[in-house]
Amino acid sequence: MDLKLNGKVAVVTGSSKGIGAGIAKAFAKAGAKVVVNYASSKEGAEKVVNQIIKNGGSAIAVHADVTKSSDVNRLFEETKKVYGQLDILVNNAGIFSFEPLEEITEDSFHTQINTHVLGNILSTQKAVAMFGNGGGSIINISSTVSQNPVAGLILYSAAKAAIDNMTKTLAKELGPKKIRINTIAPGMTETEGTHSGGIIGSDLEKQMVAITPLGRLGQPDDIAKVAVFLASDDSNWVTGERITVAGGLL
Ligand code: NAP
Repeated sequence: MDLKLNGKVAVVTGSSKGIGAGIAKAFAKAGAKVVVNYASSKEGAEKVVNQIIKNGGSAIAVHADVTKSSDVNRLFEETKKVYGQLDILVNNAGIFSFEPLEEITEDSFHTQINTHVLGNILSTQKAVAMFGNGGGSIINISSTVSQNPVAGLILYSAAKAAIDNMTKTLAKELGPKKIRINTIAPGMTETEGTHSGGIIGSDLEKQMVAITPLGRLGQPDDIAKVAVFLASDDSNWVTGERITVAGGLL
C-alpha cells in the first residue's frame, strides 16, 4: 500500500465531526499521525481517535477553541509534546448560519469572522513556527460560496472569501520557507453540521442537488481525498491554489 503521508504529523482543526473527521481518518489511513481538535464534542473527537487507533493508526484528541490564542497555543504544545513535529495543518473548524443583513449583530459578526478568519490565522501562526526545515503543507477549507455567495449568508461567504485571499497572500509569504498553502472549496456536503442545521432534507438540499452536474451532495470522504493529495508530496509544486470539490457545482 502506498502510504502517501507516512511519517508525517497533522493537526486538523474541528475534526470531531463532518469534513474534518473525514480528513483526519483519511490522513491516518495514508500513514499520518493525527491531532483531532474539537471545541465542544469531546465524545465525537474520541470516537474519531478510537476509529483511527482500531485501524492501526495513531491519533490524539485535543480540546481547543480556535478563536482563543491560549487554546491554540495549547493545541500545538500538546502536538509537540506527543508527536515532536508538525508537517500538515488543516484549517477546517467552522460554523454555518443563515443570517440576513438586518439580523447581523456585533456578536454574530465576531462569531463568524473570529471562527473562520482569526482561528485560521492563530493556527497558521503556530503551525508555521513548528514546521521543520523541510517546510509543510497548510490546507484551508473554504466553500463554493466564497465565489458564488448565497442570499442570507453574508458573513459566512465574506469569511470564506477572506480565507481564499489569505491563501494566496500566504503562498507568497511562506513559499521561501517551503511551506505550501492551498484552499479546498467544498460544495454542499452531508455532515453533522448540515444535518443539525436543517439543510439535509430541506428544499435547499433538493435545489443544490438539482444544479450539481454529478447529481448528489458531497460526502466528507470526497473532500478528504483531495486533502490527502494537497497534504502529500504529490502536490509538491502546487501552492496558492483553490480547488473546488463540489461535483461540478461552481
Ligand atoms: P460540522 O459537521 O458542523 O463540524 C464542524 C467542526 O468544527 C466540529 O468539529 C466543531 O467542533 C468544529 N468547530 C466549530 N467551531 C470551532 C472552534 N471555535 N474551535 C475549534 N473547532 C470548532 O461542519 P462541516 O459541515 O463538517 O464543515 C467543516 C468545514 O467545511 C467548515 O469550515 C465549513 O464552513 C466547511 N464547509 C462545509 C460545507 C458543507 O456543506 N458541510 C460546505 C462548504 C464548506 P465541536 O463539534 O467540537 O464544537
